[in-house]
Amino acid sequence: MMRVGLTVEEAIREVLAHVKPVSTIEMPMKDAFGYTLAEDVTANAPVPSFDRSMMDGFAIRTADVQTATPETPVRLQVRGRIGAGQATDHVLQPGEAIRIMTGAPIPRGADGVARFEITDAQNHPEAEEVGILLPVREGESISLTGEDIAVGAKVLKKGTVIGAVEMALLATVGVAKVTVYRKPIIGVLSSGRELVGVEQPLSYGKIYNSNTYMLSGLISAWGGVPYLLDQVDDEVDDVVEAIRNAMPVVDALVTTGGVSIGDFDVMRAAYHLSGGWVNFWKVNMRPGTPFTFAVVQEKPVLGLSGNPAAGFVNAMLFVQPAIRAMAGVAQPETRPLQVVLAEDPELKVIGMDRFLRATVRIDQGQARAYPLPAGQSAGIISTLSGIQAFIRIPAKAEVKPGDLVEAYMLDLPVAGEIVP
Ligand code: AMP
Ligand code: MG
Repeated sequence: MMRVGLTVEEAIREVLAHVKPVSTIEMPMKDAFGYTLAEDVTANAPVPSFDRSMMDGFAIRTADVQTATPETPVRLQVRGRIGAGQATDHVLQPGEAIRIMTGAPIPRGADGVARFEITDAQNHPEAEEVGILLPVREGESISLTGEDIAVGAKVLKKGTVIGAVEMALLATVGVAKVTVYRKPIIGVLSSGRELVGVEQPLSYGKIYNSNTYMLSGLISAWGGVPYLLDQVDDEVDDVVEAIRNAMPVVDALVTTGGVSIGDFDVMRAAYHLSGGWVNFWKVNMRPGTPFTFAVVQEKPVLGLSGNPAAGFVNAMLFVQPAIRAMAGVAQPETRPLQVVLAEDPELKVIGMDRFLRATVRIDQGQARAYPLPAGQSAGIISTLSGIQAFIRIPAKAEVKPGDLVEAYMLDLPVAGEIVP
């Protein structure tokens, strides 16, 4: 049974209830940027795996240098030199030091490192003696085995998006191959007799199809692989044929246009005729009210408004978490920030959640949102560029400048989740 008129939250929940993670693959870690881990990753060895120096200086026995002052330095015999990646068999005896560089393993017998700055031998690499000018605490300038990551520790959880930091962590624990979810393939079908491909000349009454390209970018940014279909006219048979051909290839389909109440809005009929069913139609939001969610051949189909900005907001709210859930992300929901509304958007009360284009700036330590005073209408595409967020003005509450509102930030980096 098709439901009509859901809240944004109900609609998100309904979409997420009908998507599931795609299959998993194993791949070289170096290629896994932007994929999602399909398994927990634990450390087989501690990091670091040996006690190492954090400074360039001298490995010493701290008991030797407790009386050191700049006027009365403690003199030690230098028994060799090691850099990172080198080691020594020498066991430090009282009165001895080993010249040591950052990253090198601490020689046995040593329990502290006197950094060059508190010695008199920094510029004398061949010196056989060194004066230590200040006392050194036990353990000073030593990074202990397992200090960063304990052996057996869970480093990354299943469902974490692999970003730059996650790649570093995987490399740090020696993981060369990872099991990840493959990227979900998301079909993009734009409908409308007025649409013209960018290679063609425009004739009167026609517009260029821009939604296909907008969605292509969004889908890639959100962790999917866009599969761009040829645009179709508002002929139900053409739409049905396009959907039928696409479904076996894709994990989900996104359509734009044809979901409203116009004479040529054939999308809902086409979903049915393609062997699917419409779960819900219309969400209590503007722009993007006529968003439609269907299931065709057991795969999710998200029907976006054709108006570019309306389609954008629909995609941000519904397509983004759907792709992330299909890609195996543990927390697929889009999480808005709370920001201060800086200016009154002067809206008519329409009983719907409004999503407004806004710039967001940090002023006096606060993130403040300035709704664009013009160019908010759903058909305007130019003002989608250069904004930082869509802010949400709830249907019910009255909002005035100074109130906190939700901001859906548009430039958040791929965020991973790191186990503490
Ligand atoms: P519809 O949702 O089909 O009623 O379309 C609403 C508005 O969006 C109309 O002005 C369409 O011309 C426009 N539109 C529909 N599809 C696209 C598209 N793919 N690219 C740009 N504009 C579109
Ligand atoms: Mg149309």
